[in-house]
Amino acid sequence: MTVAAGAVLLLAACVTTAGTDRPRPPTSCPRITSDYGALEGYRVSPHTGIDIGARYGAPVLAAAPGVVVFIGDRRPGNLVSEATDRQKSVAIYHGGMLTPAGDELFVSTSYDHLSRFAEGLRDGDFVRRGQHIGANGASGATGPVGFPHIHFGVRVTGTPKVYTGLSRRNPHDFWWQAGPGERAIHAFDPDQDYGDPTAIEWMPETRISGLTYPAEC
Ligand SMILES: [Zn+2]
Repeated sequence: MTVAAGAVLLLAACVTTAGTDRPRPPTSCPRITSDYGALEGYRVSPHTGIDIGARYGAPVLAAAPGVVVFIGDRRPGNLVSEATDRQKSVAIYHGGMLTPAGDELFVSTSYDHLSRFAEGLRDGDFVRRGQHIGANGASGATGPVGFPHIHFGVRVTGTPKVYTGLSRRNPHDFWWQAGPGERAIHAFDPDQDYGDPTAIEWMPETRISGLTYPAEC
């Protein structure tokens, strides 16, 4: 075995191990088709979010209440695509969240590869948790990834109301926790009380209780 082949095998083993202890969405949800940090053969750098394989046109949901801070074609320079769709993206700023370690981080989420936006959705709009913000598209279904999927990303900062230059984080660190120490991916349930602020009370400094799965389950 060459050194290079050995390195590839070792890398593959690391990725597999890292993937096994991650929380999984309920079986009723569209599944995660590529996880955070994944280095499948076609990727040149670790995956910056999670991909959720879902049918074309499937509703994409806001993972928590917040304000729309980006809606449009994907920022130039993020990804070269030979897409059939334009790369429609939404980003939402949610305010503060306490990590299990007790740090407060200010969290934004992004939703890429959409085929369209929810009707009337505009920059600056308040969105509720679970609100439809767009529909799954095919702009990520290029090359070896031959199916439509949502790319869901989480970015954080230590300062409120900052929407750019944020650092990427693993979405698995931010799922809504139903109980102490629980580490699971929760589907959005309209009957569940998440302790979310209402639209009228929501402010950029508000603290939210975690993220729910951004696809319909
Ligand atoms: Zn992705």
